[in-house]
Amino acid sequence: MLSQNAITVLERRYLKKDAEGRPTESPEDLFKRVAQAIAEADKEYDVDADIKATQDIFYDMMYHLKFMPNSPTLMNAGRPLGQLSACFVLPVADSMEDIFDALKNAALIHKSGGGTGFSFSRLRPAGAAVNSTGGVASGPISFMKVFNAATEAVKQGGTRRGANMGILRIDHPDIMEFIQCKKNTAEITNFNISVGITEEFMKAVHEKREYSLIDPHDKRECGKLYAPDVFDLIVKMAWTNGEPGIVFLDRINRDNPVPSLGEVESTNPCGEQPLLPFESCNLGSINLDAMLVCKDGAYEFDYTEFEKTIRNAVHFLDNVITVNNYPLKEIRDMTLSTRKIGLGLMGFADILYKLRIPYNSEEAILLAEKIMKFLRETARDASNELAKERGTFPTYSESVFKSKGMVQRNATVTTIAPTGTISIICGASSGIEPVFGLSYIRNVMDNDELLEIHPYFEEVMKERGLYSKELMSKIAQEGTIAHLEEIPKDIRDIFVTAHDITPEYHIRMQAAFQKYTDNAVSKTVNFPREATQEDVRMVYELAYELGLKGVTIYRDGSRDAQVLNIGKVN
Ligand code: ADP
Repeated sequence: MLSQNAITVLERRYLKKDAEGRPTESPEDLFKRVAQAIAEADKEYDVDADIKATQDIFYDMMYHLKFMPNSPTLMNAGRPLGQLSACFVLPVADSMEDIFDALKNAALIHKSGGGTGFSFSRLRPAGAAVNSTGGVASGPISFMKVFNAATEAVKQGGTRRGANMGILRIDHPDIMEFIQCKKNTAEITNFNISVGITEEFMKAVHEKREYSLIDPHDKRECGKLYAPDVFDLIVKMAWTNGEPGIVFLDRINRDNPVPSLGEVESTNPCGEQPLLPFESCNLGSINLDAMLVCKDGAYEFDYTEFEKTIRNAVHFLDNVITVNNYPLKEIRDMTLSTRKIGLGLMGFADILYKLRIPYNSEEAILLAEKIMKFLRETARDASNELAKERGTFPTYSESVFKSKGMVQRNATVTTIAPTGTISIICGASSGIEPVFGLSYIRNVMDNDELLEIHPYFEEVMKERGLYSKELMSKIAQEGTIAHLEEIPKDIRDIFVTAHDITPEYHIRMQAAFQKYTDNAVSKTVNFPREATQEDVRMVYELAYELGLKGVTIYRDGSRDAQVLNIGKVN
């Protein structure tokens, strides 16, 4: 069942090892260890619970690669560390003590395989006065460099290299420096950065006028910038090297299920999980490829199996919250008060290949909406069932669900994660992304390279008597089959890859999934190398129009080290 790539990844960081670094458990043992540790939570709610039955259900989902929890759960469940969440947001308040507390907490989280998001918007700008010393403040960007250096150091001893999100509000006085902070520097490499965009700013862009900068300390206006110029600079920098991304903060807060707990200021590192300060979230993803059945030689989506898997996955993720060993008391308290989970999916591009639907088609958009709507409604129903057995999340009575009369165990249920590693374990295409290349080299975990040919493509080419080594290498060089006349048109139409899909279709697909996702959707909008800044701007505008919570773009070849490379074959 597991591919060689999957076994390599598991052996590297996920399996238990002895002092010499040899694995002391098999992948089956790992799934058993995880299933057992997570099933234990049932006892908290029912002393007579049949733990073994739950354990078997959880094991079956992972063993058959139908559902996979996020990496920290696979690494740490049933082991002394016991930290199971991928996503954290830590507050950074405007004092030395608070800044360095956040730094220490981030280091502890990185050590356990989690990623941290921060908003630096509360820090006073560079040059502002420091009352106690009579000196001047060095500003958010200088502190980001300190966080970056700490992440770099912890990398060595942790379970995996740490990842951070850094967000600064568009109305912070240091915003221009922030937008350009990754331009010529190796000092912020362990951060993804995003600008926190407000509705007021977008209005100012459209009305071609200035907007106010706000001093985070006294909340007074302390300057003005011409909004279209700032927007242009964001576009220019993103076009140059993919950063900064943008997040629509007001929209995210409109979907905050418990506004009384505070405002959402940041997301986790890859942007799919907005969280309150000190909140954490555990993710899990269903492999859609395992939800297909073959009838009379054609594939069909099996909604019965999908429903069963969604219900079991919600049970699993709610249990994770219960047995999780939280790195800090504040994180424990906050996370337990909302019990947010993020169930998503992977293998969407794979099933499109099997169902013979082009990713860039209306049919694919409709299927995306149908699948995600089903996932959210079933997950909500499962959360409702759990609430009846175990009670609602503790802040339910202050939540938006109370007024809607929806009884829920979890304040959010759906998130679409990148599934960077767990999709390799499942042998699936990642998240909702199109397949990047039909044949390519993948750089995984600290510079190892793996060669991949997409199995369904290989299958179809063999079936049609078109498969040859020469053709496969040609495809690996080209990265796409769109212009290869020797391949029949029907195959070229179905087996599209990331660069065959226009940025507009990337965004529309993200929007189709976002429509039924409580949290956010991880997606990269790929642009060809020759794309212009105007192309990028249009996509940002479209993302805003279609109600997305954020956008990440990447123009081919604009960064030195790419995770996936077209045109490199062993
Ligand atoms: P996985 O496939 O390993 O479960 P994803 O690629 O789906 O992880 O990423 C989900 C989230 O996990 C990210 O948004 C981030 O919060 C966290 N994460 C991913 N990679 C890392 C990393 N190297 N270090 C720390 N956290 C990470």
